Amino acid sequence: MLRVAVVGSGPSGVYAAQTLVQQREVPGVRVDVLDRLPAPYGLVRYGVAPDHEKIKSLQGSLRTVLEDERIRFLGNVEVGGEALPTDRLLELYHAVVYCVGAARDRMLGIPGEELTGVHSATAFVSWYSGHPDAAAEAFDLPGVDAAVVVGAGNVAVDVTRILARGAAELAPTDMPQPALGALAESGVRAVSMVARRGPSQGRFTTKELRELGTLPEVDIRADPAELALDPVYADPVAAAALPAVARRNLEVLRGWAQADPGGQPRHIALRFYLRPVEILGGPDGRVTGMRFERTAPDGRGGVTGTGGYEDIAAQLVLRSVGYQGVPLAGLPFDPAKGTVPHAAGRVLRAGRASVGEYVAGWIKRGPTGVIGTNRPCAKETVSALLQDAGTLVRRDLPGDPLDSLRAAGLRPVRWPGWLAIEAAEADLGRSLGRRSVKIPDWPGLLDAAGSGPA
Ligand SMILES: Cc1cc2nc3c(=O)[nH]c(=O)nc-3n(C[C@H](O)[C@H](O)[C@H](O)COP(=O)(O)OP(=O)(O)OC[C@H]3O[C@@H](n4cnc5c(N)ncnc54)[C@H](O)[C@@H]3O)c2cc1C
Repeated sequence: MLRVAVVGSGPSGVYAAQTLVQQREVPGVRVDVLDRLPAPYGLVRYGVAPDHEKIKSLQGSLRTVLEDERIRFLGNVEVGGEALPTDRLLELYHAVVYCVGAARDRMLGIPGEELTGVHSATAFVSWYSGHPDAAAEAFDLPGVDAAVVVGAGNVAVDVTRILARGAAELAPTDMPQPALGALAESGVRAVSMVARRGPSQGRFTTKELRELGTLPEVDIRADPAELALDPVYADPVAAAALPAVARRNLEVLRGWAQADPGGQPRHIALRFYLRPVEILGGPDGRVTGMRFERTAPDGRGGVTGTGGYEDIAAQLVLRSVGYQGVPLAGLPFDPAKGTVPHAAGRVLRAGRASVGEYVAGWIKRGPTGVIGTNRPCAKETVSALLQDAGTLVRRDLPGDPLDSLRAAGLRPVRWPGWLAIEAAEADLGRSLGRRSVKIPDWPGLLDAAGSGPA
């Protein structure tokens, strides 16, 4: 019997586990899906915005996979630490597939990033998603009148939307109560989403962009003069040659630029061709605004500074300029790419495939694509693993890995423990007059997991 550990229970880990048990080339595969968190689903639980219920509901199909009798979920198991180094894990299983994601944000690298009120979008997302590592984060929203979000991708759009949305609309989601309370008391009236480059170069998808214009009590502003700086904006021939998503984005922005301001209490401004130069602060160390340099297209797809500057007042700055992987102790890492070096999913050590070690998902290919992109990515990796299975399976294993994990002092949360967390979250929601509400801290999650059936 081939025994495989999948590290990470986000989409790539779950798709890898599913492919492993559903294939017919190598019969009798057993998979343990390990995650450092007591809760499964990775960024589908802790990244996808709470008001995107349809995408959130993908958890249902991931759940069906994890309930397969050939798969065991072992939460609260961190790989790469003292208790479970990577080489020990490989002794316990014939093969290990690392699917640990790439959830560290990038810095802007400008003065003022240390000021109070400057955060990464990652931290903000983790906080409103109830990630237990973010329980101590403090977002002082009541004092915030204006916010700046730096970035032009879907995560920037997500945080802009959550800031501008009224709390009443977020109440039906599973957002933790402290985050919902802080957003309810928030004074945010203006959110500027600022991009260094032009509107045709935004990385957001049209559906997400368009949604910004549908929020109740929120005006959306796009400056026609700023949009017109983009060479393709006024050139129908050049616009026709753009990828469909960029073309549709331009159409949406054009519509907003031509619309009358609606006099709503809150507004979102979509800004382009502004390069972050400095975050401005007051004597109390709190952010007061952000200085940008006006940029212009350089004719080669990039931008160049013009020497003109603009300050935007803000008491909250969120940067959303991309994700990158973090090295996992014991695994090779390419710092330039932020990924683990691999060939078709086989981990490369000093350029050679390491026996029994594989990688899938964001840590394999970088933080790109949608949830579904992780499925073919995981399949490629599993097919490499299955090609190697004949050799891998010959090695004798020390017995049930669960015993070894417990002997190492780990306290895995098994599937019934996760079901107990779900039940506790449903109870919490009922007690607050809401639907299921996330437990946002480690003690709460582990307590709830412990109260489940053994
Ligand atoms: C804020 C945000 C919003 C998004 N919204 C959408 C969306 O609406 N639609 C869409 O299609 N895509 C969305 N995405 C992209 C999508 O979430 C990713 O494509 C997907 O989650 C990547 O899957 P993954 O399995 O590689 O990583 P992840 O989902 O990050 O899963 C990695 C898992 O590994 C675990 N782990 C990490 N280190 C260890 C360790 N040392 N030991 C054990 N476990 C470990 C983590 O706890 C986590 O559970 C979003 C991404 C972000 C960041």
